[in-house]
This record gives sequence, structure tokens and C-alpha cells, in this order.
Amino acid sequence: MDRSKLYRRFRTLLIANRGEIACRVIRTARAMGLRTVAVYSEADRDAMHVALADEAVLLGPARARDSYLNVERLIEAAKKTGAEAVHPGYGFLSENAEFAQACYDAGLVFVGPTAAMMTAMGSKSGSKGLMEKAGVPLVPGYHGEAQDDATLSKAADKIGFPILVKASAGGGGRGMRIVRSAAELGPAIVSAKREAKAAFGDDRMLIEKYVDNPRHIEVQIVGDSHGNLLSLFERECTLQRRHQKVIEEAPSPTLNAAQRETVCAAARKAAGAVNYVGAGTIEFVSDGKDVFFIEMNTRLQVEHPVTELITGIDLVEWQLRVAFGEALPLKQDEIKLNGHAVEARVYAENPTKNFMPSVGRISTWRLPAETGGLRIDAGYREGDTVSPYYDAMLAKMIAWAPTRDVAIDRLNRGLEDSDVRGIVTNIPFLSALITHPKVRANAIDTGFIERELSALTSAAAAPGELELCAAVAAIVADERQADASSPWHTFGWQPVGRRQRNFAFRVGHGPEQKIALNYGSGPSTLVIGERELAFAIVPKDGGFDLTLDGIKSPVAAVIDGHELYLRTRNGRFDLHWVDPFGGETEEQTGADKIAAPLPGTVVAVLAEEGAKLEKGAPILTLEVMKMEQTLRAPYAGVLKSIKCRVGDIVQEGIELAVVEPSEE
Ligand code: ADP
Repeated sequence: MDRSKLYRRFRTLLIANRGEIACRVIRTARAMGLRTVAVYSEADRDAMHVALADEAVLLGPARARDSYLNVERLIEAAKKTGAEAVHPGYGFLSENAEFAQACYDAGLVFVGPTAAMMTAMGSKSGSKGLMEKAGVPLVPGYHGEAQDDATLSKAADKIGFPILVKASAGGGGRGMRIVRSAAELGPAIVSAKREAKAAFGDDRMLIEKYVDNPRHIEVQIVGDSHGNLLSLFERECTLQRRHQKVIEEAPSPTLNAAQRETVCAAARKAAGAVNYVGAGTIEFVSDGKDVFFIEMNTRLQVEHPVTELITGIDLVEWQLRVAFGEALPLKQDEIKLNGHAVEARVYAENPTKNFMPSVGRISTWRLPAETGGLRIDAGYREGDTVSPYYDAMLAKMIAWAPTRDVAIDRLNRGLEDSDVRGIVTNIPFLSALITHPKVRANAIDTGFIERELSALTSAAAAPGELELCAAVAAIVADERQADASSPWHTFGWQPVGRRQRNFAFRVGHGPEQKIALNYGSGPSTLVIGERELAFAIVPKDGGFDLTLDGIKSPVAAVIDGHELYLRTRNGRFDLHWVDPFGGETEEQTGADKIAAPLPGTVVAVLAEEGAKLEKGAPILTLEVMKMEQTLRAPYAGVLKSIKCRVGDIVQEGIELAVVEPSEE
């Protein structure tokens, strides 16, 4: 292969990916003056990466196989838009040697290593063979060609249990089984092979000694096409669930300076064994003392930002410069480690329901500003839909600080200050995880999350006085904002005598908690049981400042019909507003007077004057606080008069219709 054909300058870059990584690559490419082309599936027409790119090409139906994994369509998209280069992101085709080759054959620059390098490193067995020759430390194990039962079981015996059976083509923790005794080996191999065949179309297995209480440590490396190869320190990714990383940090808090240099040197040796070009990661498993090579990833990793934050290097910029054919701009001793960075992966999933993915529309997306060491790489915005077709990662939140403790605090603060609604996210879980004392103390291993799961997903606290008051304040603020000229607004806050409005809230199936708002002449107060509290609200973005009993504190609030979400200094609360009209039916029957129960708008008149009505027959519909409420005949009779019209804004207690009871 001709090097100048492989790597050369280009002006237009196609990003063969979606979500946050596509957005992140577009950002740097744009900053470098490149034109960007996004690709998308039918499910992603309105996705953020499509909006960010200069141009966008529809690939096909939602299923990844028909869109993001369709090599032919991707090459065609590049041709049609005049793209000269392709960035594969991570996942999808990023480690697919055939795709890299197809790009080369089509005259496109592939932002990554050559197909040959990918093939050499792509199989765990093959790469282990290479590493063995290069003198990189390996976990004791078997990575030979022969795959018959006898060979595998002999290898397992020799290594000694517990062992790990792994798919050679594996990724994402699939096709992997821990085996603790000889008796478990046969069934484990059968099931791992089945999974590997389905996931990768390749069921070759390797066997490794299972490192007890393992840690995951990996080294970022970057090579150029001039023979330079650099390591950019290591990341610790020990906090995993089902072999998937959840929290990553750099540098590893487990290693001292000497161990750091050893693992980085081993990684350079590993990548040097294939004269690696591009960004890549050498992964190691560690017993806390020594590190053992497990595999190489020939692409950018999800967790690359933590490396960027401690080195000040934009890895995508370096990838692009390497793809331009440039030499790396720094020497090894010019790469300095500065401070500490921690990343959390924000997913649309429900930790209390076995991390089931959550799909739907993101109705609220409020993340803190990227200041004070905080960085957010997002792939979604408010109003976007999380579809069931792809990985459910929404964003990554990354915090940098001079020390690990402060980086953790900053990340936690960032998570705590985030409100994402409409779908369920793992944000509270991430917060609980990074503030766990054992995480703080780095007393963890890859099994930590699984062991601590119940503590990390424990139920939310019950709402207290502050939350009940905040709930009422949220409703009042929402009503005032919804319509500044609403009768509630003018009426509720005018000195027209003292009035009381009652509220009840419930969490899940818990008991109803009651609170009343006293308003009218004089300052409004809130009453809970015997206590009467003065309060004031000052609305702000996403909520309000609530002063209660002389203490001002911020409240984030989202109101969706009867559901209230609140975030106070005590945490997050989901409250159900028990129907203020009595019963949960949103209907009212039996009241004798047909009057507005609260200020509202007449949205429908459902019966004509003079009509004969059965008891309970609908007369008109009011919209009160965004909820529809139908007023009905309190008894059988004749509708004598209707005193309002559609569109009327009516005050509380005003009679809206008169029904004359039939004489019986
Ligand atoms: P995949 O490619 O599916 O992600 P890896 O080989 O990278 O698989 O391993 C994933 C995770 O499994 C590692 O991060 C580590 O936590 C654990 N692991 C891998 N090999 C071993 C081993 N020999 N002993 C203990 N844990 C291991």
C-alpha cells in the first residue's frame, strides 16, 4: 500500500457514526476548518449529529445493519458528497478491517490504522501471539488455533481454575465466561461459543487465568505514518457492569510513577509490534500489582476525554493530523500529566429495573454549563427521541481537577445538577457510585458494582416539609408563568380576603401528604399540619429559588400533568399530585352547583340549553392547570342556562351552568 494514498490532506470528512461520538468528531473537524458530512438512519432524521454537520446523507432503515453498518451505502454517501475521508468513531464499523479496506479501495482516507493492522490486532488470540513475541506481559493462558474440547480442557487444567473463557473475536464482554471448576468448563464453552457465533460470526475461544479481584487499566497510544509512537498515560476503567465500563478515570489511582512507566512502556511495545498508526488503546488486566495484556482496540475509545483532559491534547485532532500524513507534534517527554479526570457514562436506562434501556422522547434536558472543569460530550438535546435501535448512551460527563478528590466532587456536582426527564436515566446511580466511600478510596475491582448494586440503587428518600412546600411553589410558579394574565394570577395574589387551596401529594403507592396554601390579603403561607410557613419564590431557569422559613435554596422543577419532579438540597423526588378535585378520575359528579372548582378556561360546551340531562351527563369541560375537567349534571333535569362560552377564563366559584331538576 502506498503511504501517500493511505494518509493525505483532505477537506471533507464523513463521520460514519451517530450520537455523541459523531457530534464530538464534528466539533473538532469543524474547528480544523474541515467540511463535515453526517450519515443517518431513518430513525435519526432529527438527531443532533445530523443537525451539527454541514451535510447529511440518509443511509437507510433504522436497523444498524441497513444503515450504519452498510459499507456500500457509506462509501456511496462519501462519493455523493465529495467526502475524501472517513472517521469511523467507535463501535459500528470502527474495528472492521473490511470497511477500512473498502475506504482505501474507494480512494478515501480512513481515519485509523490500516486494514492489515486491524486484522493483526483484531483477534484476541492473534494479538496475544504478537504480544508474546514482543515480550509484553500476558495473563497465563491458551490462545492457540486448535479448538477441540480435549485441547481446551487440557489447557484449562494446566492454567488452573478459576479461568476465563473468551471469544477471540469478542467485544463488549460478549462470549465471555468465568469458570471456577473443571465440571463447569464444558457447558461454559458451549454457551460462550453460541453467543460468540451469534454476535461475531466467529466462535473461536481462548482461555485465560482469571485474575481475582481484577482491575482494568489501559494505555492510550497514538502512532503516525512516520514511525513515531507515543503513549498518553493510562486510564483506570475498573468500575464496570457486565464487563462494560461505567466510570473511567485518568491517571489510574492504583499505579505509582514506576508502575505507570512500566505499563506505558509495555503499551508502546505492544503497538510498536505492528508499527501502529492512529489512535489506539492497549488494555490490561491488573491484580493491583502487575499488569497483563488482554487486548488492543484499534480505534478511539468512549473514554478518551479523560486522557484529553490530563494531557491537554485533542485526540481527534491528532487522529486527523495523522490521517493528513503529518508527523506527531510532540515527543514522548513533552507529554505531561496534569491533574486528574473522571468520566461518567450517562445512559437512558433504569438501574432499578436491571438497567433496562429506556426509550422515548427527552422532554427535559438540563445539564450544567461546561465551566469549572466540567466537560459534557452529548449526543442528544431536549426534544430528541431515544430509539430502541442503538446503544442507549446519551452523553458523557467528564470532570477535571488538580486532584482526584476534587475531580470526583466536580463530577458529582455536575450529575446532581442535571435534570433529564421523559426517559429514565442512570444519573442518580452514577452519583451514588462515584460518591461511594470505597470508590473514593479506590478500594474497588471489576465486581464492585454488581456486589453493591442494592446500595447503589436504593429507593429515594421520602419527601419532607421542604419538598411539599416546593411542590406547591412549583405549581404556583408554573401557573403564574403559564399565563401571566390568568385569573389565578391576579385573583390569587390580590387582597380579596383570605382563601385556602388544598393540595395532596404521594410518592409511588405511599401515603398522601397534605399541604395547604393560604393566600389573599397579606402574604401567602403554606400550612402543613399545625405548622404555617412563610415562603417566597423567585423563578429562574429550570425552577426557582424558594425561601422557606428564612432559608433560600434552589429547586429544580418539572411539571408534567399530575407528575411533579423536584430536585431540592435533599435530592430528587418524583411526586404525584393527587387530583385536587377529589378522586383520581379527573371527573366531578354529585356537586350540586355547576361551578368552576378553580380558575380555568372553558374548552368545550357539551350540551345545549333546554336539553334534558341524565344525572352525570357532561355539560362542559374546563381546563384547569393544564388538566381537563368535565363538569356534569348533579341530578337528572333540564339544562336551563349556560353562563359561559368556549374560551372564557372563569374564576373559582363562578357558576357556569344551571340545571333545573326534573320533578319527580
Ligand atoms: P471485551 O473485548 O469483550 O471487552 P476484554 O478482553 O476487553 O473483553 O475484557 C473485558 C473485561 O473483562 C476487562 O475489562 C476485565 O475487567 C475483564 N477481564 C478480561 N480478562 C480478564 C482476566 N483474565 N481476568 C479477570 N478479568 C478479566
